[in-house]
Amino acid sequence: MTPEEFRHAGHELIDWIADHRASVEGRRVRPDLEPGDVISALPDAPPDAPEPAAAVLADLETVVAPAVLEVQHPMHFGWFPSNASLSSILGDIAASGLGSLGISWESSPALTEVEEVVVDWLRQLTGLSPEWKGVIQDTASTACLVALLAARERATDHAQASGGLVGESEPLCVYTTEEAHSSVRKAALLAGVGADHIRLVEMDPETRDMQPGDLARLIADDVAAGHRPMAIVASLGSTGTTAFDPIAEIVDIADQHGVWVHADAAMAGAAMVLPEMRPLFAGIERADSVSWNPHKWFGTILDCSLMYVRDPDHLIRVMSTNPSYLRSTAGGEATQYRDWGVPLGRRFRSLKLWYQLRIDGIDAIQARLRRDLDNAAWLADQFEAKSGWEVVAPVRLQTVCVRHRPAGLEGDELDAHTLAWVRAINTSGAAFMSPSMLDGHWMVRISIGVESTERAHLERLVELLDAAVVA
Ligand SMILES: *Cc1c(COP(=O)(O)O)cnc(C)c1O
Repeated sequence: MTPEEFRHAGHELIDWIADHRASVEGRRVRPDLEPGDVISALPDAPPDAPEPAAAVLADLETVVAPAVLEVQHPMHFGWFPSNASLSSILGDIAASGLGSLGISWESSPALTEVEEVVVDWLRQLTGLSPEWKGVIQDTASTACLVALLAARERATDHAQASGGLVGESEPLCVYTTEEAHSSVRKAALLAGVGADHIRLVEMDPETRDMQPGDLARLIADDVAAGHRPMAIVASLGSTGTTAFDPIAEIVDIADQHGVWVHADAAMAGAAMVLPEMRPLFAGIERADSVSWNPHKWFGTILDCSLMYVRDPDHLIRVMSTNPSYLRSTAGGEATQYRDWGVPLGRRFRSLKLWYQLRIDGIDAIQARLRRDLDNAAWLADQFEAKSGWEVVAPVRLQTVCVRHRPAGLEGDELDAHTLAWVRAINTSGAAFMSPSMLDGHWMVRISIGVESTERAHLERLVELLDAAVVA
């Protein structure tokens, strides 16, 4: 493809994207299809002759676009907000257009240094002190894995440089709660902590926040048994019910035993840009690593996960395969982000944040997050006031967890009722929500925060729910 051909096809694609976004509300949220439908609409064999870009765009319109769940739809309330602000999409296109290779500072100085600057802008916007140094990882799952690898090497005094984990005699333990994201367990397993040594700390029965007293007890028991506490992963805004583990108390306990604390604020970290919400995160400053995803509620197109550490030299020593760590942050040497994570080659992800922050501006982003918090409080009030409905978890941020409980319905019958009404709405395409388990029974999570979701959409949602539970 020549630059001139690219210019023509590119303009058409941008027009298509703008039209698609402008008309998203007129489409279904959840596509109406079965597994395999997309495969059967595509040719089995690769094209044997070049096709015009217009033919590809036509298939994007007719085959691909109708087969995505429209998470940018204002009636999408599933999982968590997965916003893709158009400003950040411009940054993504710019990153692709530059076609840079991020394997070292040398291979693209701007790729490294724009990332350093933008990650520090976000540090300032979230109220973290200048002690923290950051990097953009692809996802919070990767950030958690990297944090646990750093924790493992601290607990073993860099065992990887000698006998590795198999050379260790005392098992390493990781502490978290059942409410933690599945990626936490996965990261612990990948870091070599066997399932037998993942400790699930008790939670407050109402809030599902970690109980620090039980954490202290578990750690003391492990130490007495000759095990080595390696890391605590605290959920700051769990995916399920927005539980906030008490990070200040957790860090106090961790400090007594030199245990690494990773704060997983993947979904909720965006709220740290609102000074009035920072009390929820009080104590985060004393963790060892923090990560949160601009690619969720904040509005940066996937993938863009921020990870901050207080001791970058330790991280670099763990993740580096060459002696570059010896001249890492000292003496004005360039940052080598390959030594901050798993991949060698990295994308120019910082341009997404750079575009979004410069074009949308932080004031507008803060106003949108505050709108969503207001909307969640309003929605919870609606359900509290209605007979038959209950809000089953505290509304800390923008997620409202509900159950409809007709008189006399309990246990399995109540579960069947819950799944029936949420499936009816989801398959209708009118709105989408995630059913989720809470204390062994189904409830429905309404996760507010799509860029285009306004109060009127929530009013419509309430009508849909009222109609679905009597149907
Ligand atoms: C979404 C989420 C994750 C996983 O995020 P990815 O970036 O998709 O890996 C981890 N923890 C919490 C609390 C989350 O909400």
